[in-house]
Amino acid sequence: MASDFHTHYLPADHCRALLSTSDPQAGEFVSLEYHPWHLPENFTVIPQDFPEKLAGFNALGEIGLDKLHGASPDIQLHCLEQLLQLAHEMNKPVVLHVVRCYQEIFALLKRFSLRVMVHGFCGSPELLDELWKRDITVSFPVNALKKTALMDKLTAPRGRFGFESDCNQNISVNEIINKSMIPGVEKMTDQYFNDFLGI
Ligand SMILES: [Zn+2]
Repeated sequence: MASDFHTHYLPADHCRALLSTSDPQAGEFVSLEYHPWHLPENFTVIPQDFPEKLAGFNALGEIGLDKLHGASPDIQLHCLEQLLQLAHEMNKPVVLHVVRCYQEIFALLKRFSLRVMVHGFCGSPELLDELWKRDITVSFPVNALKKTALMDKLTAPRGRFGFESDCNQNISVNEIINKSMIPGVEKMTDQYFNDFLGI
């Protein structure tokens, strides 16, 4: 059973997935999204019924910070603080979307005790070490397979990781796992998926 760590679509056969959605019935494992791309510029507080809604989900996300898209950085940061506080209070793991904001994310995460996953990671091997040092689970898209230096680190990983199909409907996580050619990776990432969700 291959595990898809982050997707917006129902999983292919022989896969299980953490589905990013706003419908709690959408899949077996669901994560409540509040994407930084879709934040209004006049955002002040998260909706009042949001905590009640989150209770029906396995995780919170994707949420995050994006320097290239979406609302202004101040608004994004203000929203993310509230969401992380809520995840902390409700003991929900968090799926993060991070674009060029790692220092801000690291500073924020110091204030909360959370299980965290960064999805869509295609950064440097050094940055991967920074994430693992903070006990963050790292999810790789198919594009990361082309980065040899990054993939080399997965043969003797120093932290938890997995693979994801995200918005890509042309490839299943089984195919990504097979292409990675990392020995024992399916079983290993299945365990990391369980660890992240606490299942
Ligand atoms: Zn996504």
